[in-house]
Amino acid sequence: MPNTCGRDLYNGSVMSASPQTSDDLYLPDLKSLSALAVSTPAADPATAEKILQDANGGPLMHDEAAALLKGLLDHEHSAAVSVAVCAASRDVRVRLFGNNVVAMAPIELSNACVSDCVFCGWRLSNRAMKRLRLPAELAMLQVEYLIDLGIHYIEFVSGDDVSVVRELIPRLVRETRALFEKRGVEGKISFCTLALTEAQYADLRSAGADNMIVWQEAYDPDVYRRHVVGGPKAFGIDDDWRVDKQGNGWRFRIGSQERAMRAGIEPGLGSMLGLNPDIVTEFLATVDHARYLSQTYGATAEHPMLIGMPIWNHITTRETDLRPRRAPNLEKLFPALAGLYLLSLPSEGTWVFPNCRVPMKTQIEATRVAGAFSSTEVKLGPGGYLPSILRNMQERGEDVKPLMERIRGLVKENGLEMGELAAVLDEREQFVHHYHGHDRYLKEMQKAGLHIIEGVRIPTQGGA
Ligand code: SF4
Repeated sequence: MPNTCGRDLYNGSVMSASPQTSDDLYLPDLKSLSALAVSTPAADPATAEKILQDANGGPLMHDEAAALLKGLLDHEHSAAVSVAVCAASRDVRVRLFGNNVVAMAPIELSNACVSDCVFCGWRLSNRAMKRLRLPAELAMLQVEYLIDLGIHYIEFVSGDDVSVVRELIPRLVRETRALFEKRGVEGKISFCTLALTEAQYADLRSAGADNMIVWQEAYDPDVYRRHVVGGPKAFGIDDDWRVDKQGNGWRFRIGSQERAMRAGIEPGLGSMLGLNPDIVTEFLATVDHARYLSQTYGATAEHPMLIGMPIWNHITTRETDLRPRRAPNLEKLFPALAGLYLLSLPSEGTWVFPNCRVPMKTQIEATRVAGAFSSTEVKLGPGGYLPSILRNMQERGEDVKPLMERIRGLVKENGLEMGELAAVLDEREQFVHHYHGHDRYLKEMQKAGLHIIEGVRIPTQGGA
């Protein structure tokens, strides 16, 4: 299949992008991808330069991406290969997106998840996690807060709290859409939930949602099943929101983006870097999946596909943290990995998404190298922005008592003072991450030569 840069991706060692399942949804050819991951030699710096020169900004073929990734993971060559990958990706980034970045922020609605993922603080079996479900009006207060900051890409997050996804999110999507209209804002609304059926995606699309985010965690089914051990995420659901006890949650999840795209929703996908020790196969599977989706359903500047880069962070309840001591630390390689995603999927319709799971400096460098989309101001617990809202109210001389009382009631902690509120809400976060305010991101991104646009569209670049 020729592409705009003249490379024939489906010759040679690039996998077939045809669906391989009876339900006509994509599944990666993991056997071939993993054989390729094993047989491809790691690129040394000279080979890396040659691969990047030959690609000339066009999409890397799977064997080329595998060679570069193995070069990045090779102790001896890592630094030099990283420099070459980042430089090549930076050129592509500037050609496609200039220095523009779309900022997003999540609004966590509930941490009462009914699935069980060993890496997550919100897992059902984590008895140390204090649970909280946010009422609609407090969620909308936070939507207003983010819009006022200039963040117009709003993501609703609920874990696998099924009633929140079924009842609260459609309402919030409708109310946010109305608020955008009232404010004259061209915004986008995303939701990060359990994998849904096509009919459920269609309902959310009708309510006004634009995007869904479902991280696959692992394309390898054994790795997935070892880390996702219970709940809807392990089995999948049906149109009536019932868990399919005989279902295959891994396969149901891989099909989620395709079902969403059929319903008119933009997809977000990604695997957790390092969860599967076979990093190369996971990377290739992610790229293969993204390539299939964009070629089958389209990914454009107006309706882009997000490529996320989750990593396994510690959780806030340290006594129940199951992160292995020897979990691979991919922070150093994070910008180059972002670059490799963009070089594999170079298009205005592919927005690589570095996030605040890594320190701000690393997040910004990955954004400079490859990311058209990035998170700012992120709080990962339900009600996380409420302390800032209270501070703003106080500065304006408004009465904060009713809201304070409301929050005290929610967290069931009487006598909580304003200064203690943020800590109590942050304890309920999904995992430990790096928080900085949006204004700090604006400054730091600017220092890095980047521009956070107030909106959700990246203007087309002259040379793209
Ligand atoms: S990763 Fe998602 S589904 Fe899994 S336990 Fe956490 S919130 Fe629930």
